[in-house]
Amino acid sequence: MAPMTTFKGDEFDHQVFESVLKRRFFFTEAFEIYRQSPNFKGDNRGLFDYGPPGCALQTNIVDVWRKHFVLEENMLELDCTVITPERVFETSGHVDKFSDWMCKDPIKGQYLRADHLVENVLKARLARGTRGLTKDSPTLDQATIDEYNDILAKIDNYNGDDLGELIKRHDIRNPENDNQVLPPIPFNLMFKSTVGPSAAAPVYLRPETAQGQFLNFKKLLDYNQGSMPFASASIGKTYRNEISPRTGLLRVREFLLAEIEHYVDPEKKEHPRFCEVSELVLPLLDRETQLSGKKTPRHYTLEEAVRSRIIDNQTLGYFLGRIMFFLLKLGVNQTKVRFRQHLANEMAHYATDCWDAELLTSYGWIECVGCADRSAYDLTVHSQYTGIPLIVKKTLSNPIRVEEWQATLNKKLAGPRFRENVQAIQSAIEALDQITLERMATELSQKGAVSVNLSSLSDAGTTTVELPKELLSISKITRLRSIREYTPNVIEPSFGIGRILYCLLEQVYWHRSNDVARVVLSLPLAVSPTKVMVAPLYSSDRQQQDQARRLAARLRGLGIVVTVDASSASIGRRYARADELGTPLAVTVDSDSLREDGDGWSSVTLRERDSTAQVRAPADDIIAAVAALAAGSETWEKVVARVGIYDGREEEVKEK
Ligand code: AMP
Repeated sequence: MAPMTTFKGDEFDHQVFESVLKRRFFFTEAFEIYRQSPNFKGDNRGLFDYGPPGCALQTNIVDVWRKHFVLEENMLELDCTVITPERVFETSGHVDKFSDWMCKDPIKGQYLRADHLVENVLKARLARGTRGLTKDSPTLDQATIDEYNDILAKIDNYNGDDLGELIKRHDIRNPENDNQVLPPIPFNLMFKSTVGPSAAAPVYLRPETAQGQFLNFKKLLDYNQGSMPFASASIGKTYRNEISPRTGLLRVREFLLAEIEHYVDPEKKEHPRFCEVSELVLPLLDRETQLSGKKTPRHYTLEEAVRSRIIDNQTLGYFLGRIMFFLLKLGVNQTKVRFRQHLANEMAHYATDCWDAELLTSYGWIECVGCADRSAYDLTVHSQYTGIPLIVKKTLSNPIRVEEWQATLNKKLAGPRFRENVQAIQSAIEALDQITLERMATELSQKGAVSVNLSSLSDAGTTTVELPKELLSISKITRLRSIREYTPNVIEPSFGIGRILYCLLEQVYWHRSNDVARVVLSLPLAVSPTKVMVAPLYSSDRQQQDQARRLAARLRGLGIVVTVDASSASIGRRYARADELGTPLAVTVDSDSLREDGDGWSSVTLRERDSTAQVRAPADDIIAAVAALAAGSETWEKVVARVGIYDGREEEVKEK
């Protein structure tokens, strides 16, 4: 079954596409009936409910994801809470930095995401060939066209000041009304709330699942018997208060995220299974290409890309390969995937290298999977705040002599002075890294005292204790080290399931013979919501109906998801409805099925959705063929070769 996206040269028609998805209830805007009420003031943009086929498709994508990553690689799966204390996101940096830049239209009171504003206005000007909104506006000269294209190629690299400057320099205004906008300001994307009736404890809804995984690192490492490298994984809802949610599922405020945190020794970022992906050729749009204003990816094997350091390390390369294989399993079109490297300013505050798997849709290239090297950032900051070491201890086969700074607390003097807090002070000192210790040693000798943060003692913020040199000594010692301690680096592939689902639907959507009413979703069997439609050819025939139901029950017994369509619509109409839902197979029971040998299980037809080809064989053989197709152990072509094409023209048959 070959997925095919053809619009037969036509423009992709969003209205038709989305109306099919909504009519077949893949998804719908949340609170829709309230939205229709004239008094409803709420904002439901970016909030969606999934209907039955959407739910089934999402579940199947997640199922493929779990098998492909979690089970295949023995990842340690977690399910952590959404509601997270403010302190955690202060430590991780999200309170300060998890923001997008927005501009206010002061007349309309509307907020616009600054980078999208620049992008949309410049793209519209390029499309019109003029600088302003009307035909009489000045025509764009070649230098301006080049400048606009250059800005667009680097759009993700601009910070708030850069965007403000571009808006001013190019007189970019609100495209809806030509109003001038105010300079960009940051808007934090996290939803804030409070916990409990006193409302004293501020919390956020998590914008990613990652932090829950990091906070459990020590337990995960113990569970894994101290063995490295390993990965944790989590699938769950996440929340981002997007400034301007797009239509459809692409930019929403609540979405399902599937994330992997792969913990690796920073000095050993090779991956033991890299050889399984090293020969895979990927289209890579690297940083250098983007900064030169170009948009065409270059093709490299992963081996070449890692060797030449286009991709920073083998583990990152390994996951890019695994991501590609995962997308192909879902039915994504190989020619409509590319991997784009983040530009320096675009990378999240914690990342050292980051690649996005992007899928081509009618909206352009859409980031569906992010794959970032988060370095040791998260584990380090959580460890510093809590005083709990989030490190790996590795026994060295050959002990080494090292010089290092060591801080010693004089407990005899510190005990009576700090009483029950002395243990927290000791933990905070133990969590100090070598760079901090070196700085403190200088400070202690110059000023006679240093401050140590004891953040874990206070929920309200950081508590600091002043330690004079009588209580704390810091000196450089030489020791024979038989254990190496390090904070792992984290490689994080992060999958937005809703985005993947939407982009996949666009890529597998087509219609037969240029007839927009005959829509097909060429979803592969692994993810299609229903695997088989079983239909009595003449649904008014009681015997055919019973036979169809018995056959469906046998398929269900094999764990195959089946629907029975015994409606009065013609068989052609019923096939068309199954095509719209992406159902890959249809089994039809007709009068000959009952007649042939009279034991109730004679021949039936099996139809394949994309080609509409049919085979006919005894029901037992067809059931075995469906089971083999569902298990992926046989292809449709093999079934045809074995059974032979049946050329009955059932699609033309009208109901009696
Ligand atoms: P990020 O943590 O920003 O790299 O996002 C990880 C993944 O989540 C992206 O690759 C997208 O697939 C998905 N994603 C991010 N923001 C949204 C959103 N507002 N709506 C839907 N999916 C999103």
